[in-house]
Amino acid sequence: MEVYLSENAFIGLLVSTIEVYRRECFGIILGHSTSDKVFVEFAVPYQTANRKYREVHIDWNRSQRVEEAVRSTTRWECVGDYHSHAKYGPSRATTQLSKEDKQYFKEGTVGIVMAVNDIAKPRPWGYVKGGTLSGAVNGYSIRIAAYYKSNDQIKKTHIVCPYAIGFMEKRQDSLRER
Ligand SMILES: [Zn+2]
Repeated sequence: MEVYLSENAFIGLLVSTIEVYRRECFGIILGHSTSDKVFVEFAVPYQTANRKYREVHIDWNRSQRVEEAVRSTTRWECVGDYHSHAKYGPSRATTQLSKEDKQYFKEGTVGIVMAVNDIAKPRPWGYVKGGTLSGAVNGYSIRIAAYYKSNDQIKKTHIVCPYAIGFMEKRQDSLRER
């Protein structure tokens, strides 16, 4: 399984993560899927980002209302959800799934996790360790990892985001011109 992030989805995830930092953001991802690829077109944040993570995740009525609204207003499907892990105290945030993340992971969906930490220097965007996307924006270091659950097993999957990598090249070009 591979997860393709569109420009819209990439920007949506970044803005959502940075907006609520140091709290954690939550939302759903819309797009479509084939047997071995999931295309994520949009990230839609839940309005209740300031509420505790677990409340949002186990509110299935809310998720169902959102999914129904998506189905009746767009040609996209709800292909999964996303949330961020923010730096808490001295320990750096990681993209590892927590116990709760695993517990509430729905079969046949993608779960995207963004880890956000403070960073001193800008860093270009690129892929690290098994298809995780990593980079920095305005003093925040951000890592984006994707997981997929099938046959009751959660596996890390590669993210493909040509826009993010293009973003890096553009930035290097503009530095070179100076
Ligand atoms: Zn989590």
